[in-house]
Amino acid sequence: MSPVDPGARRAILAAIDDAKPASEAMLARLVRHRSLLGHEASCLEDMAAIFTEQGLAPFRVPVDPERLADHPGFSPPLIPYAGRDNVAAIHRPRQTIGRSLILQGHVDVVPEGAEDLWTTPPFEPSIRDGRMYGRGAGDMKAGLVSFVMAWQAIRACGLQPAAELQFAAVIEEECTGNGALAVMQALPKPDACLIPEPGKVLYVAEVGVVWAWVIVTGKPVHVREMQAGVNAIEAANIIAGRFKDYESQMNRAELRHPAFAAHNHPINVNFGTIEGGEWNSSVPTRARIGMRVGVMPGKSCREVAREIERLVADALDDPRLKGAKARVEFKGFMADGAVFPPDQPLSQALVAAHRDITGADLSRHTTTALTDARFYPLYQGTQATCYGAEADGIHGIDESVSLESMHETTRVLALLVAGWCGLEKKARPF
Ligand SMILES: [Zn+2]
Repeated sequence: MSPVDPGARRAILAAIDDAKPASEAMLARLVRHRSLLGHEASCLEDMAAIFTEQGLAPFRVPVDPERLADHPGFSPPLIPYAGRDNVAAIHRPRQTIGRSLILQGHVDVVPEGAEDLWTTPPFEPSIRDGRMYGRGAGDMKAGLVSFVMAWQAIRACGLQPAAELQFAAVIEEECTGNGALAVMQALPKPDACLIPEPGKVLYVAEVGVVWAWVIVTGKPVHVREMQAGVNAIEAANIIAGRFKDYESQMNRAELRHPAFAAHNHPINVNFGTIEGGEWNSSVPTRARIGMRVGVMPGKSCREVAREIERLVADALDDPRLKGAKARVEFKGFMADGAVFPPDQPLSQALVAAHRDITGADLSRHTTTALTDARFYPLYQGTQATCYGAEADGIHGIDESVSLESMHETTRVLALLVAGWCGLEKKARPF
C-alpha cells in the first residue's frame, strides 16, 4: 500500500470528523427502513439516492435466477426477485495509478424477533450512551454508512481515488447471498473486495451454511387411539435429536479446518423455525422444521446436503417412527466456507490502516457465521475480507452499534482506499 500524503491524510480525517452528525443521520435514515426479506425496495432506493447525493451514478443489478442457476455459488431462492434489484455505482479515475476495489454491504436485515423484548422499537433508531439501537444498525447499515462517508471525505478534500472504486448495496446476504453473486457477475473484476460487516477484527475464515427444511408426515388418528398413530411433531423432534448428534460429530477436532483449530464448536445446527399440527385434540399429520447447518471450510455444502438427506432417511428406521414419512427440501443458503488469508495484500493494507488510526494491532477472527465475502475468493480469485464497527445484539434483541466505532471504521476505510487506490485531484468540483 502506498503511503498517503500526510496533508491529504490530515484533511481526510478532519472531513470525517466534520461529517459525524451527517453520518449518524444517514445511519438513522437507513435503520428506519424495515428491510426484511422481500421488503428491501425502499432501502435500496434510498441507497441509490445516497449514491446520487455523493456524485455517483447508481445503476441496478437484478438477480436473474435463470442466469445464475448453474453457478456453484447460487443458492435456491426463497422468494421471487422482481422489484428488489441490487444497487451499484462505479467511480472511474482520470488516470489509473492504484489498484481497484469494491466496497460492498447488504441492506437486508434479519427479523426483529419478539418486539416486546426490545427497549425501543427495532425500526425506530434510538441513541443511548453513544450507541445507536435498531435492527440492522450494526449488521450492517453502519458499514454502508462508513464506506459512503469515507468516499465523501476524500472528495470533500478535492481528491478522488486513482483507481476504479466500486460500490454495491445488495440483498439476501442473510439467506442466500444471491444478491452479492449477481453483483460479482455483473461488475468488472476488482483487485479486492472489502465488506464492512461488524467487528473490529480481521476476518480470516468463515464457515459455510446449508438451509434445509425437514417435512415430516405422521399417521393421523383421533387422540383417543393415539397409540395407533404417529405424531408428526414428536417424530420431527426425534429426527431433530439426530441432528444434534450430527452436530457434535462434525465438531470433532480431527474434522476441523486448521483455521478453526482454536474453536471448540465451529459447526452449529440451529432449528430456526418449526410449524405443524392442526388441532389440539388430533394427532398432528405434518410438521416442518427449518434449520441452518454449518459447513466446515474445505468441505462442500453439497456434501453436507447429501449427509442431511441420509441422516433423515436413516432416522426413519427408528421403531418409534414406524409409519412416518419425511423428506428434505433445500431452499436458501447452499454456501461453502471460505478462507481470507491474513497475508494477502488487502488484509495487510487493512491491518496497516487500522494501526495507523488506532495504534493497535487487529486481531484475527474466524467466524462461525458467513458473509458475502466468500464469493470473491471462491469463484473469482479475488482477495476479500470483512472489517467493521463494534456491534452488539446482531440477530438478537436490542441490536446496537457504537457510533464512535463507526466513525473509526470510516477513517480506516478512507485511509485504506487512499492507500490502495491512490489519490488524484477530483475531476470536477462537486
Ligand atoms: Zn451482515
